[in-house]
Amino acid sequence: MDRLSAELKKLIEAGRHRALSGTGGIDFTSNDYLGLSQHPALRETAMAALENDISIGAGGSRLLRGNHPAHESLETAAATFFGSERALYFSSGFLANYALMTTLPARQDVVLFDGLTHASLRDGIQANPAKHLRLPHNDLNAYEDALRRMSSPEQQCWVVVESVYSMDGDLAPLKELAALCEKFGAWLVVDEAHATGIFGRKGRGLTDTLKYEKLIVLHTCGKALGVAGALLCASKTVIDTLINRARPFIYSTAPMPLQAVLVEKALQLCAMEEGRREKLWKLCALARETLGINSPSVIFPYIIGDDHEAVEAAKAVQAEGYDLRAIRPPTVPEGTARLRIAINAGLEEKDIRGLGEVLHHLTLKAAA
Ligand code: PMP
Repeated sequence: MDRLSAELKKLIEAGRHRALSGTGGIDFTSNDYLGLSQHPALRETAMAALENDISIGAGGSRLLRGNHPAHESLETAAATFFGSERALYFSSGFLANYALMTTLPARQDVVLFDGLTHASLRDGIQANPAKHLRLPHNDLNAYEDALRRMSSPEQQCWVVVESVYSMDGDLAPLKELAALCEKFGAWLVVDEAHATGIFGRKGRGLTDTLKYEKLIVLHTCGKALGVAGALLCASKTVIDTLINRARPFIYSTAPMPLQAVLVEKALQLCAMEEGRREKLWKLCALARETLGINSPSVIFPYIIGDDHEAVEAAKAVQAEGYDLRAIRPPTVPEGTARLRIAINAGLEEKDIRGLGEVLHHLTLKAAA
């Protein structure tokens, strides 16, 4: 057997083989938290842009002929909305995080990253020759200790966290982390992928009221904003550095201009759709009560532990008409395979109660 086939066989035996599958069932899986991907105003915006002859492809890198007015207009609107000096639009959150972490920390610097940060940040950190330290999840003492030991005039520290952790749904202690970064002069990188559109005034995220000059924030646009791509918000110097030095930005075709037009519209909708946020938070309160999982966000982890059992549990829930997926290592730590339950504003109370019943039967069966 060739090596690739042998490796795939091992994944199957370990219960870690993945396959693409269709979507079906009541949505407890997508990150379309506000349901904006189906918003009629986004469709109308797309049609109007097409009728006005917007170019479909950008035609090149932003640094060459691919820089369209739609990109610049979005970035100006995003900087105003999120209250940052500048914003830069990337075609995906993965690319933006990778660009950030491969470009900004210098070889002599130290990157301190939370143990549960996303693959895109981790891959960028790995690819950077700067020293890096993985810190225990949300452990402020560990951050303080590392910052004290590592900070010096020659080596800058970069603290890298998510405001809402994507697989656990818990929050980073942002205020305390920002205070520590300020004390030691460190940079603070916050990935708001699962907070943008949901937390903060008008959905500006959990960094909304955080004021720190060395703050760099990622807002993804494919989750609660319902479109695609990501906005990095930071000082003029940081954005200028990325434009000049970030290889994934320089050597890649710019996002479709239409995409930028839609994200700009989605930012307006995000500010306006307070009703959807209110409904979402009500559903989350019900989910906490019904599922018995105490999460401060819209993400509820139903931990199972064993990989095979998680896959079987997902199948059982899907058979009842609920779209839930098994999340297994390496996406989550060993021994914590789970169903990741994501609440969105398109759900109804009866959906949550129904899922609660199915999970309750599952728990009883597992205990029997
Ligand atoms: N950061 C986090 C925390 C994420 O969950 C994701 C997507 N799963 C990303 C970044 C990447 O964003 P995108 O899907 O836009 O590539």
